[in-house]
Amino acid sequence: MPELPEVETIKNDLSAEILHKKILFIELRLKKIVKNDPSFFKKVLIGAKFRALERCGKLMIFSLGNGQFLLIHLKMTGQLIFRNKKQVIAGGHSDTVFNFDLPNKYSHLVFVFEDKSKLFFNDLRQFGYARIVDKNQLEQIKQRFGMDPLDSRFTLKYFRNLLKKRTGNLKAFLLNQSIIAGLGNIYADEILFEAKILPMRKVTNLTIGEISLLHKSIRKIIMKAIKYRGTTFNTYVDSAGRRGDFLKFLRVYKKEKKLCQRCAHVIKKIKVAGRGTRFCEYCQK
Ligand SMILES: [Zn+2]
Repeated sequence: MPELPEVETIKNDLSAEILHKKILFIELRLKKIVKNDPSFFKKVLIGAKFRALERCGKLMIFSLGNGQFLLIHLKMTGQLIFRNKKQVIAGGHSDTVFNFDLPNKYSHLVFVFEDKSKLFFNDLRQFGYARIVDKNQLEQIKQRFGMDPLDSRFTLKYFRNLLKKRTGNLKAFLLNQSIIAGLGNIYADEILFEAKILPMRKVTNLTIGEISLLHKSIRKIIMKAIKYRGTTFNTYVDSAGRRGDFLKFLRVYKKEKKLCQRCAHVIKKIKVAGRGTRFCEYCQK
């Protein structure tokens, strides 16, 4: 699933390409991917321009500058692929090798811009969505999200207060989008490994030192993942040859049965909070 670093990366890449270009045409190939009436959706977008692109957790918000906003959520397997004559920029889901031949059977929504460049919304499992909302609806939706770990208000004091109000285990806590927005399975496991804390630990029995370390680890892992452009395969044909490079820094995610880089014991995988969870039971306490 694309998480905060992947969405942040594709958001930044797309901002450089699609802003202030008139949308000439919308090709809706799978109706259910759009959560509005299709004719309303097209009417709002055709002839409009994206004015700004922002992110709330894993949700992308395209401002149309007329009081309307396009929301895109990539969910499990969504990908956004921009193509013009010179390059392809792709981001989102990282596990599926997608086809260069676009559109293909996974391309459910296509934006065609005035310069003939195109933005494809591909989604293998079709959990992702696009939706037009107005300012009030957007504010309501934003309120459902917890604090962004990159927000300057996400301080240690704030984090300590978040933990106070909660029960349950740490893995579930980190995955809960209404507490902290943007973390998913990959980064939750990597953060807990970095902090040397086991994912099944109760949030109520952390020491002051562990809370501080966990807070630091959240920011450290997320910022490093963004620096390396997440685990997307960003930009296949970019002249700069950039791609999502964080894969090589993963230390527990998909490392089960391999040796821990810190203590050389075997990385385990069990279900915690309903999700496959990897950890080292020796150096995580
Ligand atoms: Zn270890």
